[in-house]
Amino acid sequence: MIRLAIISPCYNEEAVLEWSAARLTGLLGELAQKGKVTPDSFVLYVNDGSTDHTWQLIRQLHGTHPQVKGVNLARNTGHQNAIMAGMMTAREWCDGLITIDADLQDDLSAIEAMVDAYADGYDVVYGVKVSRQADPRLKRLSAKAFYKLQQRMGIEAVYNHADFRFLSRRVLGQLARYGERNLYLRGIIPQLGFPSTTVDDVISPRTAGHSKYTLRRMLSLALDGITSFSVKPIYGILYMGAIFLCISVLIGVYVVHALITGTAEHGWASLMLSIWFVGGIILLSVGGVGLYIGKIYKEVKHRPLYSVEDILGDEKHARS
Ligand code: UDP
Ligand code: MG
Repeated sequence: MIRLAIISPCYNEEAVLEWSAARLTGLLGELAQKGKVTPDSFVLYVNDGSTDHTWQLIRQLHGTHPQVKGVNLARNTGHQNAIMAGMMTAREWCDGLITIDADLQDDLSAIEAMVDAYADGYDVVYGVKVSRQADPRLKRLSAKAFYKLQQRMGIEAVYNHADFRFLSRRVLGQLARYGERNLYLRGIIPQLGFPSTTVDDVISPRTAGHSKYTLRRMLSLALDGITSFSVKPIYGILYMGAIFLCISVLIGVYVVHALITGTAEHGWASLMLSIWFVGGIILLSVGGVGLYIGKIYKEVKHRPLYSVEDILGDEKHARS
């Protein structure tokens, strides 16, 4: 049996909190009755610097439901950081945890499936959206384009998976070694490399409150996702430089031809040639400098070199 924590980040979620807490604690009760999780499993709300009464509500709920815990962040730090704060707080108190948005748009029946997958030996279980009908059209389209772009950039992210997932305690221990500022969990977790699987997640519409992910926030997350994991854009500059140089060779041939046949204006040949040649050299040099910056960027992240899955003879590291 597993002691399960459910981590839920909240930013101005007073409209959904009570409803969410009732559903989540109810679910934990059911799972405990079925003998799948321990009775002291809990829900941990992370208040991400809300400006409404979210934290007062969490405190009230903690008073009435012993299974509700809370972390109060001193200011708004964003969805990814709030999840990280919750996971790092709960990791010593549980055998595994599930992160889910406070609005419970994700499929609650997937939680039991995640617990079952853990029992089957998986350390990471991704909730994968099978139907996004409830999402607005713009969100669906932009999400799709973004997943495709990630793939092209060579980022190992799970298609149609957001931040609804299960992580076991040993994965959390490994994750704790990542100290990066531009946190993009969807990129980091597949890199850790523990046994993983997926469960279906049917999204429902938000019941109350409104989405905190404005277009600007979505773009900024997408940009973080790509620039924190891929140096391919830098290679793009190098390739462009090479292409420009090739074009300058072709133009060189054309210019010589024009000179011989005498069809060129005076000064045109040298001007044309230098624009493409110098442009190519500049792009190549910028790309070259970029290669070094790419290395510096990898170094400063201080990402762990390896992740340990098992240690024979160390009780603390073994799965319960
Ligand atoms: N959230 C947060 N900090 C923020 C913005 C959002 O903790 O700065 C939380 C929010 O309360 C919710 C989750 O992140 O639990 C996802 O946000 P939302 O449901 O508004 O996004 P959407 O589902 O529309 O993408
Ligand atoms: Mg939502």
